[in-house]
Amino acid sequence: MAVMLKAGSPDWGVCAERCAIDHAVLHGNRKILEIAVVTEAETLSNSKPCGACLQYIYDFSKDSETEIIMAQARNGKIMFKTVEVRSIRELLPYPYRKRE
Ligand SMILES: [Zn+2]
Repeated sequence: MAVMLKAGSPDWGVCAERCAIDHAVLHGNRKILEIAVVTEAETLSNSKPCGACLQYIYDFSKDSETEIIMAQARNGKIMFKTVEVRSIRELLPYPYRKRE
């Protein structure tokens, strides 16, 4: 299990998603079963991971049906009307794949 803190633009460095995945992998968790992304509503208009993070999530997912749970929070509380669950396949239908 990892915790993600997401703030600001992904252009400023490595996104929280990739930091959390790196942390999990370094501690022996090699496959993502599901992942949750929560953002502050005042900062971002939605909680969908950026393209680089979607690829990273795909690379470490158990399969293409791994669920990504997205939500927004206000004053530290999840706004349940914003909760959305999508599979990595839905959010990244054409992932990059290395030739085996
Ligand atoms: Zn990202």
